[in-house]
Amino acid sequence: KNFDEAQLRAAIQTNVVKSGYKVPTPIQKVSIPVIADGRDLMACAQTGSGKTAAFLLPILSKLLDEPQEFEIGKPQAVIVSPTRELAIQIFTEARKFGYDSYLKISIVYGGTSFKHQNECITKGCHVLIATPGRLMDFVERTFITFDHTRFVVLDEADRMLDMGFSETMRKFMHHQTMCPDHQTLMFSATFPEEIQRLAGEFLNNYVFVTI
Ligand code: AMP
Repeated sequence: KNFDEAQLRAAIQTNVVKSGYKVPTPIQKVSIPVIADGRDLMACAQTGSGKTAAFLLPILSKLLDEPQEFEIGKPQAVIVSPTRELAIQIFTEARKFGYDSYLKISIVYGGTSFKHQNECITKGCHVLIATPGRLMDFVERTFITFDHTRFVVLDEADRMLDMGFSETMRKFMHHQTMCPDHQTLMFSATFPEEIQRLAGEFLNNYVFVTI
């Protein structure tokens, strides 16, 4: 199965080709149709498996396919990542795949001044990539709400757990503004009991994939 059979929008296909990706990796082969189909997903996959494109491609494609009203401070997809480095990698890939589309992509992470990261507030963004603590800072200051959020990704969920972010993840996922019919995708390298519990709590009727 190739990317051209993967139900991705033409603009996204073009950017995939430009990125030099020819054949989908196993996690992409399995996850892209599941996400395109609207299902929640729990995927066990390592860094290096191509998991970033596995969630970015169908999300960007669906945002373009079913556009909804754009509002400042109301991201349509929120991707949470444990570290700044990983968040930046996801951001770079998202910019590449969203190139030449109208989709605005922003990133916020801790350890730097709040002031310099307010692009998502002043210009708005369709896709927000964030580390957990800084995301909830923005939320607590009511700069960001999730009532337009159709896609939620928790990337490297086991690492977020190890870093002590389980309550922050819960606060985010159960936030009062969270759009009730969002699609949730969880990625984790390992699948210990606590991740199974979080998957049960955050996901609805989910597809389980392990690579
Ligand atoms: P990830 O696991 O998402 O961190 O991706 C690992 C690396 O593989 C990144 O450098 C990606 O750009 C690259 N990559 C992901 N999917 C593909 C693909 N289908 N073909 C070639 N390279 C890929």
